[in-house]
Amino acid sequence: MGPISRATSLESCGRRAGGVSRVALLWVLVGVTSAVMAVGALQHVWSDRGQVSGSSPAGDRGGDAGWLKGEPVQESACESDGCPGHGERPVSPVPGQAAPAGVGDQHLGGAAPAESRGDVVGEVVARLVAEGRFVDLHADTILRAARRRQDLDTEYPGAEVDIPKLRRAGVGLTFFAVCSPRPRLRPGFRTWEDFAFIRYFKHVVATHEGIEQALSASDARRIRAEGKIPVVLSLEGAGILLEDPGRLQTLYDAGMRAIGPVWNITNTLADAARDEPRWGGLSPVGRRAVLEMNRLGIMVDVSHASENAFWDIIETSKSPVYASHSNAYALRAHPRNLKDEQIRAIAKRGGVIGVAFHRTFLKRGRGPATIDDVVAHVRHIAAVGGVSSVAIGTDFGGGAILPAGLGDMGRLPDLVKALLESGFSEQDVRAIMGGNAMRYFETICP
Ligand SMILES: [Zn+2]
Repeated sequence: MGPISRATSLESCGRRAGGVSRVALLWVLVGVTSAVMAVGALQHVWSDRGQVSGSSPAGDRGGDAGWLKGEPVQESACESDGCPGHGERPVSPVPGQAAPAGVGDQHLGGAAPAESRGDVVGEVVARLVAEGRFVDLHADTILRAARRRQDLDTEYPGAEVDIPKLRRAGVGLTFFAVCSPRPRLRPGFRTWEDFAFIRYFKHVVATHEGIEQALSASDARRIRAEGKIPVVLSLEGAGILLEDPGRLQTLYDAGMRAIGPVWNITNTLADAARDEPRWGGLSPVGRRAVLEMNRLGIMVDVSHASENAFWDIIETSKSPVYASHSNAYALRAHPRNLKDEQIRAIAKRGGVIGVAFHRTFLKRGRGPATIDDVVAHVRHIAAVGGVSSVAIGTDFGGGAILPAGLGDMGRLPDLVKALLESGFSEQDVRAIMGGNAMRYFETICP
């Protein structure tokens, strides 16, 4: 859809004429800018974000903080330590057909002959990968690609996500997040910069034949059937709304289907998990925004919300909510993780929790996390909320410090293998790695 038709679609939404016409103007302004200009604008955003982030109390780098620091994105510990999976450039098999490197029989112990049991696990991994139904609920691929001028069609050893890796890993739906982190209204607030991220998302999708933006679950199935990977536009931190939930219509018209009201900086909608509280949870605007997301059919993401904001979202939302990238607080007491009662609250309503790979959310202390740490969080969430509540939200591309052996999307099948070896059935793993997330997506965006 070109800029003219987008502006036209805005005109049809007349509920908030003043706000929308301003936004429409911004859209036209941004829309007539070429993709090249959008990239230029993004670079400006980053330098500007460096100033914004100076007030952020987000303590540790990487994951949710690194790229906003205005510093070079820190390579993950995995990359810098030369752990397995980096420095090597795996051979690309026929997409969706071959088992990935590293999947096999060499690490299996126990009574049965290791080779035969390993063959069985390897066959299941290969089968699941070939189905091409894995889902990643959160990756900052767009930010990373823009910053590094990364062509997603080309496989780079250091890139956490590119199309060859998505294919090789059996990913059949992925959520690319853009971010609108600004804390609050101020004169001259340049909202168009945040819209430029959406323009850039559109540009990336339009210039890569292997991916296509999915607007619904049925759309995702069609895209898969055409041999492409469906990508959902999502947003973490809805500062772009300012104080006007009516802007959600604009985002919806752009194809935005998943939104977290707040990122690491408390904004006009909600208190952040890692910032000072201002509202004691959701603000009045935040409550209206959640209801508007329900009305439009936008997935409400509780990751990054403070605990009080989480419970306000649970109380307010008329639809199931999800956590795009959060882990179990019981295993790692971190404000970005979910306590057991939070896990149960999401699960009871039919939502899902995307287990994230960022070390800070996986374990305490120094040293890299491992795939077993990821498995432990999956197991805990499954034990508390049921297998049907568990999903994956890698946080790739956001400067996350990644587990050894899970440094990029191409290694995802190694997690599948570890889950099978830890005792999950093939059916469970199919659900955890994609089925549950797809079910939730279909609930909100059929
Ligand atoms: Zn995040």
